Amino acid sequence: MKSTLITTIFLLLAFSSCQESESPSEQLIISAEERQTLLFTREEEKLAHDVYVYAFDKYGLNVFQNIANSESSHVLSVLSVMETYQIQDPLSGSTTLGEFTDPILIDLYSELIRRVDLSLNESFLVGLFIEDLYISDLENAISETDKLNISALYANLECGSKNHMRAFYDQATANGITYTPEFISQSEYSSIINSPKTGCNAN
Ligand code: ZN
Ligand code: ZN
Repeated sequence: MKSTLITTIFLLLAFSSCQESESPSEQLIISAEERQTLLFTREEEKLAHDVYVYAFDKYGLNVFQNIANSESSHVLSVLSVMETYQIQDPLSGSTTLGEFTDPILIDLYSELIRRVDLSLNESFLVGLFIEDLYISDLENAISETDKLNISALYANLECGSKNHMRAFYDQATANGITYTPEFISQSEYSSIINSPKTGCNAN
């Protein structure tokens, strides 16, 4: 919704082209908003990976390593869709921990690492916070795109995020700590943690 003008121009272009089946080049048309969301998601998935790798190095608990591996595959899924639309990776494939181009994510990473340093229990809350934020962001992202391959990507990432949320919830509960969702509703949170882990397309 940031740029009504761009959306209007996009819609005019879309409708001025004929109504017949889309040619491959028309399918490559992507709005500025869709492009921005893909770029942000690419860095968000890396942030999750980097925070969980950091937590694993600090506490040695397998749950962090397993979920970090899943986040790596999420990063590759986003990069693959970006390639379809010929969008350059702002990080040029970087896997350096803590490296981001988006200032919001640079700040968020520092804040979350600071919290991971506090304790193992705080690290479970950080995991729940990340997945809570991403589920909310991915639901918004799905509602903002009409591209089937992009919405399928986000649905797959959201499926993974819900499994990660269940895993961190189990750890938090076993350690007697409670997380209150900040981005999704309490009822959505309850419904996720009370339903079993599901298979996603990729992790
Ligand atoms: Zn993910
Ligand atoms: Zn995740």
